[in-house]
Amino acid sequence: MPEFTTKSHSETTDLGRKIGSGLSSGEVVAIEGELGAGKTTFIKGIAQGLGVEDFVSSPTFVIVNEYSGRIPFYHMDLYRIEDAPSLNDLGVTEYFDGGGVVAIEWAERLGGLLPEKYLSVMIETIDEDRRRIIVEERGGKSLKGGI
Ligand code: ADP
Ligand code: MG
Repeated sequence: MPEFTTKSHSETTDLGRKIGSGLSSGEVVAIEGELGAGKTTFIKGIAQGLGVEDFVSSPTFVIVNEYSGRIPFYHMDLYRIEDAPSLNDLGVTEYFDGGGVVAIEWAERLGGLLPEKYLSVMIETIDEDRRRIIVEERGGKSLKGGI
C-alpha cells in the first residue's frame, strides 16, 4: 500500500493535488485522522487537482460543500455527526451516485454507508510538522490518482 511522509502542510497539499488530478466522477475519497492531522489540508490539494478555485477550508454549518472544478467536487465533513442513522436521514449517500468526486473527513463515521469501492486515506501525526499518509484502494483493483 502506498505510504508517504510529508514534512509540511504544503507537501500534504501537493500529495492531495497529485491524487486529485487523477480522479474522475464517481470516485469517493474517505479520509481518517485525528483533529489537526491534516485532512482538510489534504482535501484542499484534491480540490486544486480537480481545478477548484474557490475552496474554503471547512464546511461550517453545513455537512457538504459543493464546488465546480473540471467535474463537481463535494467536500463532506462529518465531525459534528454522531451516528450513522442521522447520516442516513441526511441523505449523504446520494452524493455517491457518480455525479462528481466526494472527499470525506471523519469517514469512519459513515460505517456501512460507505460505498463498496473507495480510496482510503489515513493520516497519522508523527510530530508537529510530519505526517504519515497511507493511501489504499478499497473494494477495487485500480488505484487512481496517478500514484
Ligand atoms: P484536520 O482537518 O485533520 O483537522 P487541518 O488540515 O485542518 O486538519 O489542520 C492541519 C494542521 O496541521 C494545520 O495547521 C497545518 O498547518 C498543520 N500541519 C503541520 N504539518 C503538516 C503536514 N505535514 N501536513 C498537514 N498539515 C500539517
Ligand atoms: Mg478538517
